[in-house]
Amino acid sequence: MSGATGTQRAAGPRIRPHVGLRAGVDIGATKTLVVLRDDADGLLAEAETATPARRGGDAIMDTAAELVRGVLAEVGANPAALTGVGVGAAGVISAGGMVTAAGDSFSGWVGTKIDLELSRRLDRVPVRSENDVTAFLRAELGELGADRPRHALAVAVGTGVGGALLVDGRLLRGGGAGAGEIGHIGDFGDEPCSCGRRGHLEAYAGGRALTRRYAAATSRQWSAERVASSALGGDPVAMAVFERAGRCLGMAIGQATGLLGIDLAILGGGVVRSWQLLERPLLEALRQHPLVSGRSVAIRLSELGERAVALGAVALVSPAPD
Ligand SMILES: [Zn+2]
Repeated sequence: MSGATGTQRAAGPRIRPHVGLRAGVDIGATKTLVVLRDDADGLLAEAETATPARRGGDAIMDTAAELVRGVLAEVGANPAALTGVGVGAAGVISAGGMVTAAGDSFSGWVGTKIDLELSRRLDRVPVRSENDVTAFLRAELGELGADRPRHALAVAVGTGVGGALLVDGRLLRGGGAGAGEIGHIGDFGDEPCSCGRRGHLEAYAGGRALTRRYAAATSRQWSAERVASSALGGDPVAMAVFERAGRCLGMAIGQATGLLGIDLAILGGGVVRSWQLLERPLLEALRQHPLVSGRSVAIRLSELGERAVALGAVALVSPAPD
């Protein structure tokens, strides 16, 4: 995707003031998506555009702020009406909202103080940020309500592969290395990873990896989605690329859940939409790594779709975040 592709949902006319007006921002390597909610009406508006990932932290913050102002304008409000803005952002995000590590889809993103910079652009409204997959997991837990588990591993397979952890009822943030970064574990072969090393899960299962691995075998530079539809049509090279992705995901999930005693994995992200291609090799590999307790790891697919990270980011600035 390239260029600004604003898609906005219109809101009806309204007279009463918004109570608890909050925005959630999902900053991914490909797109930035914003949702606007309030306590009375839930989701009021949303908008998305391409993330200027190569143009540095200032451009990324400008784009996010502009989207937030846009959805506010749709409902006749301005930043002063917001009680908070939550951000789920790609990369390792420190407790104070600074990007401390990021994949090579971004340039000039490391070092960006998201909370400070976005607040400054939005009339000093309070901003809190966290890793995008942690926000994704927060949203998924909110969906589960009373059935909320005490332990879960979230894996988001999009451009890259990210992860987040819920252990003993708490979302783990981790130290400087970031908790749950499952995309950069494993030793699955010699494929180059976005972190500069080789053989990691992301180098086999991320969308960019699927494109690269398919192109290496066929010279066709196709998106992961297109490789998926070709696999469904019986293309053996495309099928093999997804088979390997599924197997690597199953092995990495098995190891991560085994280490932490987790028996639920929640999967989301664009690549997981091709679940029918991933399911068999993933489950086969997972069965080869049973938990020592004998319990099996249940797999749940996200039902929140593209909005999951932004909705989790809203929950981060709700009155009682997890
Ligand atoms: Zn890596």
